[in-house]
Amino acid sequence: MNVLLSPQISSFPKFAGPTPSKTLKPLAGTPTQASRRPQTGVIVVGAGLAGLAAATRLHSEKVPFLLVEASDAVGGRVRTDTVDGFLLDRGFQIFITAYPEARKTLDYGALDLQKFYSGALIYCNGRFHRVSDPFRHFSDALLSLANPIGSVLDKLLIGLTRLRAVTRSDEEILSADEVPIIELLNRTGFSDSVVDRFFRPFFGGIFFDRELETTSRLFDFIFKCLALGDNTLPARGIAAIPEQLAGKLPPDSVLLNSKVASIDSGDGSKPSEVRLQGGEVLRGELGVIVAVEEPEAMKLLEGKIAGKTPGKRPRSTACLYFSADRAPVQEPVLILNGSGAGIVNNMFFATEVARSYGPEGKTLVSVSVIGSFECVSDEKLTRAAVGELSGWFGGSVVESWRHLRTYRIGFAQPNQSPPTDIENRSSRIGPGVYVCGDYWSSATFDGALVSGRRAAQALLEDREALLKDRGLSLSVV
Ligand SMILES: Cc1cc2nc3c(=O)[nH]c(=O)nc-3n(C[C@H](O)[C@H](O)[C@H](O)COP(=O)(O)OP(=O)(O)OC[C@H]3O[C@@H](n4cnc5c(N)ncnc54)[C@H](O)[C@@H]3O)c2cc1C
Repeated sequence: MNVLLSPQISSFPKFAGPTPSKTLKPLAGTPTQASRRPQTGVIVVGAGLAGLAAATRLHSEKVPFLLVEASDAVGGRVRTDTVDGFLLDRGFQIFITAYPEARKTLDYGALDLQKFYSGALIYCNGRFHRVSDPFRHFSDALLSLANPIGSVLDKLLIGLTRLRAVTRSDEEILSADEVPIIELLNRTGFSDSVVDRFFRPFFGGIFFDRELETTSRLFDFIFKCLALGDNTLPARGIAAIPEQLAGKLPPDSVLLNSKVASIDSGDGSKPSEVRLQGGEVLRGELGVIVAVEEPEAMKLLEGKIAGKTPGKRPRSTACLYFSADRAPVQEPVLILNGSGAGIVNNMFFATEVARSYGPEGKTLVSVSVIGSFECVSDEKLTRAAVGELSGWFGGSVVESWRHLRTYRIGFAQPNQSPPTDIENRSSRIGPGVYVCGDYWSSATFDGALVSGRRAAQALLEDREALLKDRGLSLSVV
């Protein structure tokens, strides 16, 4: 991929028709005049997974586009930093191989996916207890029947929940009647013990929601994906996912460090335009796809979209990374806090899952809390986590860990409590303007990919009528 690091556009894909096409001039420097506005087929705003999926779909139809991104790299919330030889994902993220859209879109082999153990260790009553997927670790699962994480009936109910999930189609699951997860669990007959010790830390960690207010649709969808696939990390960090998508886009089709300040939607007879913060104006003859996170979309499209989650608090998290000389648990397993006390929700030793996450001889420790703890300093948060984990692994072990970095993600996911509209939301919001992003579908890697593909699809469906109205034809350069 040839990524433009600043708005130094030498040429865009051209548009041919009665309006003269132009070879586009560099954006920087000269004041932009309306007649010299850089133009292309489609402007996609935001290079997270949704924007990348939209661009991928446009590219597959040979429609010229420009993907405009405010930050210094593609990926949005799916980024990885390299610090002292460690790969630090910006927050704890897991890639589930059974995500249906991801399966169609990504090259899994090239991602070199490293698997987690199918189950978890749960810290409760002062020790660790194992829960296992009986279909993959049968003998572990048998042994765990007697542990205090839930009754034998709870374990049977988990089996039935799995069956209910895997025997329904994704469409059925995502448009089924919905209730908050906690209500579904109570109705199913799960005991308080398994809810508090397993479901709260596990699904609470996935949706950053220990109250389990998130929709039962997503519970069933994730349950199905977990049953059918593996939990993994790409060997080169979670950012390898968006980077793979970006790597397949045409040279010079991604414009980084370029924040869109406003969007002027066309009215059918004239093209949509976006204005960058620096004042430059870009024109999308076929339209603009807005692929930014929900709060930013509300600003850019003021009044044009009703907030999907008005008044609902977005979900936030913080992730603390440490370097250690040795992992006290030497297996690729997720560790959950089922004790009902403390701030740590889940943690794991990342280098036990993917050796490439740290330099030789070093262990990467990843610790996640729910909420971003805005009012607590990094130092205090680190002290609290170290103090708590000392109770789990022993003070002499944990106090030797070196803090590497803390990520606080204020907007990790939109709030996904009912009512939700995951399956059927139209991406078209006005002439030439299309919307996508996880808040338009589901806040998962898969939901973001689906929403991006759907927005591009809607634009492609409108293309012929629009070109006819304007007496234009598309020529791809
Ligand atoms: C810590 C964390 C852990 C997660 N874990 C998982 C997980 O394990 N599994 C899972 O499936 N999902 C997980 N998710 C959710 C998943 O990452 C998101 O749902 C998904 O990545 C959202 O993609 P998006 O493209 O919709 O939005 P984003 O990734 O937010 O992309 C939006 C892009 O728009 C850009 N932008 C914003 N404003 C402008 C502007 N004005 N001009 C130009 N560009 C702009 C932003 O810089 C950004 O790059 C996690 C999320 C977080 C934060």
